[in-house]
Amino acid sequence: MILNPNIEQRMQDRIDKCGECWLWTGNVNDKGYGYVVNNGKRERVHRVAYVLVYGPIPKGLLVEHSCRVRNCVRPTHLRLATNWLLKAERTAKTKPAANSPWSKDFYK
Ligand SMILES: [Zn+2]
Repeated sequence: MILNPNIEQRMQDRIDKCGECWLWTGNVNDKGYGYVVNNGKRERVHRVAYVLVYGPIPKGLLVEHSCRVRNCVRPTHLRLATNWLLKAERTAKTKPAANSPWSKDFYK
């Protein structure tokens, strides 16, 4: 993603920094992700924020919100991830059944 020189200024005007998360007040898509037009192309704004602060996103990686707030653009809430990692984390958060050897109750 090559950033347009004016994109940083355009973004600054559309960020609400009142809370822990920096919320995007510009356009949001149907999934709740903010977007901006960069060089004629719609880009998810959290990806643009990531590139502005940390540099290019390595091929095959996603930019994910550690805060789970989809329209947050605070750079410290953004991290690189893979689909595989996100799936594994989601699975880990699911509580295992009580009779599963992965459950704490299994060893009582
Ligand atoms: Zn956040």
